[in-house]
Amino acid sequence: MAELLEIAKLGNSILRQIAQPVSNVTDATVQALINSLIATATSANGVGIAAPQVSQSYRLFILASRPNSRYPNAPLMEATAIINPKIVVHSDEVIKGWEGCLSVPGIRGLVPRSRAIAVEYYDRYGNLQRQEFTDFVARIFQHELDHLNGIVFLDRVESDRDLLTEEEYQRLLQNI
Ligand code: ZN
Repeated sequence: MAELLEIAKLGNSILRQIAQPVSNVTDATVQALINSLIATATSANGVGIAAPQVSQSYRLFILASRPNSRYPNAPLMEATAIINPKIVVHSDEVIKGWEGCLSVPGIRGLVPRSRAIAVEYYDRYGNLQRQEFTDFVARIFQHELDHLNGIVFLDRVESDRDLLTEEEYQRLLQNI
């Protein structure tokens, strides 16, 4: 059973640091961190989690989109470790969508993101992957990559009026 890790919250300086590249993907400590990140994201109903959010300042995050109580409309995908990622191409089209963050509990914000991205990353076996993501999964990827650069979603919200409490966000979902 993978260990559940404590999530750093807004105000913790680890969330504002530039994370360092992972040098040896297949190292046992990196593999254990990946397992713990997946278990922690799943347990917290997250659709992604970045290593700096558990106070490990490495360029590694988990994409784990699946429908849950925090994101009822999320597409289902297998939890995937994304290591030393790069966005190679951004679509010109930018759309705003609601985001939350395990490090910013209780708040949702409307965040502009590229609708589609082409990316490169290493998987947990050390293989280079090239992929394209669109819509919600592209949004998660951009949100998690920001964590590796010391950025949180609140930094990208264009107006305070684009912020909601979790309670009001859940009410909004009921009415869509
Ligand atoms: Zn986050």
